Amino acid sequence: MKLKIKTEKRIELIDITDEVREEVRKRGIEQGVCILSTRHTTAGIIINENESGLREDILDLLNRLVPAGVGYRHDRIDNNADAHLKALLLGASEALPITDGNLELGTWQSIFFAEMDGPRNRTVNVTLLKGE
Ligand code: ZN
Repeated sequence: MKLKIKTEKRIELIDITDEVREEVRKRGIEQGVCILSTRHTTAGIIINENESGLREDILDLLNRLVPAGVGYRHDRIDNNADAHLKALLLGASEALPITDGNLELGTWQSIFFAEMDGPRNRTVNVTLLKGE
């Protein structure tokens, strides 16, 4: 299935943990794997702590590592090279085990959709595989 996400800022982290947990629960999978992926080239999927200061720290880090508009070749045609390069650092997918009907996430772990070139309408694919 697909999660639809409407982002509101150029760069932001959106917690999708509850939506993903709900999909796992609805499918009734006890043991398996949950694969989260996004087909976009300027967004990513990450797992980390949902604390407001840390969310800002992560975005600040990405902006420091990959500042916008410093002469990237892709900016000559699309003007969003920094968004592609930030997304490259984050990765476009994550896989999590499902154990006893629950996602294997640590107490402080949340799943985020990471928008690097918003605001846009986005999609996350949730692929659930049943194990034994
Ligand atoms: Zn582009």
